[in-house]
Amino acid sequence: MTSYGWLFDPKRCIECSACEAACKQWNQVETGVNVRWRRVLRQESGSFPNVRVTAISMACNHCENAFCQKVCPARAIWRRGSMVLIDSEKCVGCGQCYMFCPYGAPQFNPVTRKTSKCTMCFDRVEQGLQPACATACPTGALQWGEWKDIENKGTDRMPGMAFPRQMQPRIRFITDPWRA
Ligand code: SF4
Ligand code: SF4
Repeated sequence: MTSYGWLFDPKRCIECSACEAACKQWNQVETGVNVRWRRVLRQESGSFPNVRVTAISMACNHCENAFCQKVCPARAIWRRGSMVLIDSEKCVGCGQCYMFCPYGAPQFNPVTRKTSKCTMCFDRVEQGLQPACATACPTGALQWGEWKDIENKGTDRMPGMAFPRQMQPRIRFITDPWRA
């Protein structure tokens, strides 16, 4: 089974949110509620006066050892290949997956009272395409590919970010020598 993952280079991110928009458009993610499968975040690190603010485009990292799947009481979270998916028919909107996800990937919709999240555009991947977000990124800050080609690139964490090594998230970061 081929595993896929993300490679993110914060130095290239211009915070244009093209990745967010492409995700919403392709996946028809609800508008009018704060449901964003991919989010461009501003991550602070360091302490005054040496504070650094970094843009990070974040979605589900389709962890090898996905805690969201383990804690879901409705067994609504399942795998399609290496992708971790939520079955909206089974989801009871309890929020357990959100609470246990260190990346805030599952998104609760207060109107439908269901949780949804990034599917890594499995429908595109199965057609030989890249996920919509990585396709739309104009600078190459957000890349996607086979995990075997990514897993040894860059580093596995960003300063100030969750570092859930035991979950084995499928994301790496291209950084200059960051201080932890
Ligand atoms: S990033 Fe969060 S929602 Fe995605 S697989 Fe990992 S624990 Fe689950
Ligand atoms: S599309 Fe690329 S450059 Fe624009 S916000 Fe997303 S990651 Fe950053």
